[in-house]
Amino acid sequence: MGPPRTPLRTLASQLSPPKIWPAADGAWQIRLPLPWTLASVNVFLFKRGDGYLLLDSGIRTDESLQSLEASLATVGAGWGSIREILVSHLHPDHIGAAAELRRRCAAPVRMPFGEAELVRPLGPDRKYFAEAAAFLLDHGVPVEHVEQMRRSAAAGSHTSERIDVDGGIADGERIEFDGGTLEAIPAPGHSPSQLCFYCREQKVLFSTDAILPTVTPNIGVHWFYQDDPLGDYFQTLSALHRLEVERVVPSHGRPFEGHREWIENTRQHHRNRCDSIAETLDSEPKNAYAIAGQVWGEDRNLLDRRFAMAESLSHLHYMALEGRVSRVLVAGVTHWTRP
Ligand SMILES: [Zn+2]
Repeated sequence: MGPPRTPLRTLASQLSPPKIWPAADGAWQIRLPLPWTLASVNVFLFKRGDGYLLLDSGIRTDESLQSLEASLATVGAGWGSIREILVSHLHPDHIGAAAELRRRCAAPVRMPFGEAELVRPLGPDRKYFAEAAAFLLDHGVPVEHVEQMRRSAAAGSHTSERIDVDGGIADGERIEFDGGTLEAIPAPGHSPSQLCFYCREQKVLFSTDAILPTVTPNIGVHWFYQDDPLGDYFQTLSALHRLEVERVVPSHGRPFEGHREWIENTRQHHRNRCDSIAETLDSEPKNAYAIAGQVWGEDRNLLDRRFAMAESLSHLHYMALEGRVSRVLVAGVTHWTRP
C-alpha cells in the first residue's frame, strides 16, 4: 500500500499558501512571490457580476501561478471565473504571466496603449539586446558588464512571456466593478504609460508602482523611455496629489493612508537626489555609470547598478532641461558636466 494520495489543490496550497486580503468593497489584494530582492508583488481581484476582473499577473513561475490559484480558491474563484485581465504596465512582475493566464482563463488581456506598443519588441531577442547594449555602452557601462547583464537577462527571461495583448486601456477609461468604478489615471514616470486605478466612490487608489509605501519607485531612463521620466513622474505626483484618497493600495507592500504626505516626501527625495548628482560634477565631466557608482556605491550587483544608472539618468535629463547640467561626448560616450 502506498502513501495516502494528497489532492492536487491541497498540495498547491501547501507549496504556496494563499495570501489574499480584502482591499476595498468588491476587491481583493493577492500577494504573489518574486525570486528577487523585492520578494513579492500584489495583483488585484475585482468582483464583477458573476465573474471577476484581474489586475496584473505576477511573473510566470510555477510558484507564483500556484499561489494565485490557491488565493483565487479561497474566495471561490478559479481560472474559469476570470472574465478579463488588465495589466498596469510592462514590467515582468506585472505582465510576466499574462499570456499564461490568458490561456488558463480564456479571458482577454488589455494594457495601456502606450505600453502595449512597447511589449512586443521587448522580448528576449537579438534586437532587444542590441538596443539595450548600445544604450548601456553609450552611458559608460563597461563592455564586460554589458555582457554579464545580457546573460542574466537571458537567464531570467522565462519569467516574463512575450504577449500580443487583445486591446488597450485608454487614459481616463472607467471600468465598472461591483464596488464602484475604476478610473484609469495616467501615471508615467516609473514606466512610459503606466496606469493607476482610482475608485472615487470608495476613495481608494490602486497606485500600482507609482506610489509604494516602503521603497521609492524606480524612475529611470531606459532605451525605450528616453525623454524626461522624472519630469513625467513629478506631473504624475501632482495629479495623484489632487485626488481625494483615504487608502492607497500599492503593488508592493501593504495598503496605507496619507498619500499627500508620501508624495511631498518623495518630491523632496528626488530634489535631494538631483543635488547630490549635481555635486558629483564639480571637477570633470562624468558618465552616468560612474555617477551612479559614486552616488549609490559600486559594491552592488549589476542589476542594481543598472537601475542606479537609469535613475541617475532620469535626474540628469531633468536637470538638463532646467539648464543645471549639460551633455558632452567624451571618446564617444555620453558624459555630463555643469555649464
Ligand atoms: Zn514596475
